Amino acid sequence: MKYLLVFFVVFFAIWLWRKNRRDEMRERVVPPRQPAPPAVGAPQAMLRCAHCSLHLPASDAVRGTHGMYCSAAHRQAAER
Ligand SMILES: [Zn+2]
Repeated sequence: MKYLLVFFVVFFAIWLWRKNRRDEMRERVVPPRQPAPPAVGAPQAMLRCAHCSLHLPASDAVRGTHGMYCSAAHRQAAER
């Protein structure tokens, strides 16, 4: 009966040691979380307004016969 108690104590110690090792391995596998890069889109081409020289993204420009403009008002003013 005395040996049964020793067996359980040894078994419990081994179980506890292996459990701690498993937790350590799990923590080691997960890589440290790095901060996410800032959400920025692809770079855009910049254009200069032919009327007021404002620089603006090409997607926002208004096409005119003499060039690109920042707004329809500047296109009308320049091409009048
Ligand atoms: Zn303009």
